[in-house]
Amino acid sequence: MKLHEHQAKDILSHYHVPIPRGEVARDSREVYAIAQKFGKPVAIKAQVLVGGRGKAGGVKLADNPDHAESRAREILGMDIKGLMVRKVLVEEALSIAQEFYMGITNDRTARRSVMMLSAMGGMDIEEVAHSTPEKIAKLHLDPNRPLADFQIRSLIYGANVPPRNWRDFVAIARSLHIIFTALDASLVEINPLVITGEGSVIAGDAKIVVDDNALYRQSGVSGFQEKADEDPLEQRAREKGLHYVRLSGNIGIIGNGAGLVMTTLDQVSQEGGAPANFLDVGGGAKSDVVKAALEIVSSDPHVEGIFVNIFGGITRCDDVANGIIQALSHLKLECPLVFRLSGTNEAEGKKILGEANLIPAASMQEGARRIVDLVKERTEPESIAAAPAYDVPAELY
Ligand code: GDP
Ligand code: MN
Repeated sequence: MKLHEHQAKDILSHYHVPIPRGEVARDSREVYAIAQKFGKPVAIKAQVLVGGRGKAGGVKLADNPDHAESRAREILGMDIKGLMVRKVLVEEALSIAQEFYMGITNDRTARRSVMMLSAMGGMDIEEVAHSTPEKIAKLHLDPNRPLADFQIRSLIYGANVPPRNWRDFVAIARSLHIIFTALDASLVEINPLVITGEGSVIAGDAKIVVDDNALYRQSGVSGFQEKADEDPLEQRAREKGLHYVRLSGNIGIIGNGAGLVMTTLDQVSQEGGAPANFLDVGGGAKSDVVKAALEIVSSDPHVEGIFVNIFGGITRCDDVANGIIQALSHLKLECPLVFRLSGTNEAEGKKILGEANLIPAASMQEGARRIVDLVKERTEPESIAAAPAYDVPAELY
C-alpha cells in the first residue's frame, strides 16, 4: 500500500525527521488561506500515488496567496498518469542548496534490505541507478543486528555529504531504518533530502510503501487507504475478483495462472513489446470472468493490441472463447486481438474465436511475436513502417 506524501511526512515527523511546515487542501480557496497564514512563498504539490509529479507539472511554487490560488486551480483536477488530483499539499517553500536521495528498500538479489544514499537527489533514482550506479552508496542491512553508527557514517562518507551535515544525516538514516522496520515497509524514501541555504537538512518529499501482507498488523496506516487513490482499472478488476496490475506499455495481456501470465509478459518483452498490464483470470475461469477481463483490458486507452494466452486445464478453452465473444457483443474492439488456446476443449474454443475474426497463434512465442508486430504496424510512424525492407545476408548475423 502506497502512502501519500503528506501521510509519509507525518510519519517521518513523528520519528523526528524534519519536514517543511505544510497543510493539505482540497480546493483553491483553502490553498489561498494556507498561503496567507504561512505568509511566505509556498510549494503546492499534487497528492497522487505516483512518482514524477514534478515533471508532470504537479509541483509548483507560488510567491503569494493569489498566485498560490491560481497555481492550485491548475493542479487540482489535473490528470497525472491516469490519476486525478483531488488534494494538494501546501508547504513553505524551501531554499534548496543541495538535493540528496536517501531510501531503504529490499534488494532481492542480496536477500537483504538496503539503504541507499546519493548526492544525485531530486531526480529519477532509477535513472541514476541505471546510468551512473557508482553515484549511489549502498549499505545492506542485517536483520539480526542493530544498525551501528559507523555503518551509517561510511555510507554518508561514500555519498560525499558535507561534514557539517553528517550529524543530521546519521539521525535521519536511523529514523528511516526504524520506520522501515516498524511499518513493515517495502520502501521508505526521501527524494529530495534537502540541504537548505541555511545549512539545515529537511525532507523535501517522502514516499512510503507498506507491504500489503502486513496491513493486518499495521492498523495505523491501513486507515489511510482511500478508494479514490486506487487506479480505477485496478479497482474495477478487484471488484470483479481479477488479479490485475497496470503496467506502462501498450499490449494488453490476459492469461490464466500467475506463472503463465508472468511468462507471457516476459515473452512479449523479449519480442520487443511492452505489456500494458498483468491480468490473471485465475484457474477454472468461466465465461463471465473472461468477459470482465476483456472489458477491463480493452477500456485502457493505452492498449493498442491484446494477447489472450490460455492453457486449458480446469479452465476450458470454450468457456474462455465464449467469454471473449460475450464481451465483443457489446464492445467495439478497436485493436487487434491475438489468442493462443491450448488444452481442454481447445478445438471448440478455437472454432468459436476463429468465426469472430480474431487472430489465432499456435504457441505463446508465436502469439507474442504476432501481437508485437501488429502493434508496431499500428503505432510506428508511416515513414518508418514504409521504409523498404532489406535482405540482410545471413552471414552478417
Ligand atoms: P516528485 O517529482 O513526485 O518526486 O515530487 P518532489 O516533491 O520530489 O518535487 C520535485 C522537485 O521539485 C524536487 O526535486 C525539487 O527540486 C522541487 N521542489 C519540491 N518542493 C520544493 C520546494 O519547496 N521548494 C523548491 N525550491 N523546490 C521544490
Ligand atoms: Mn521526489
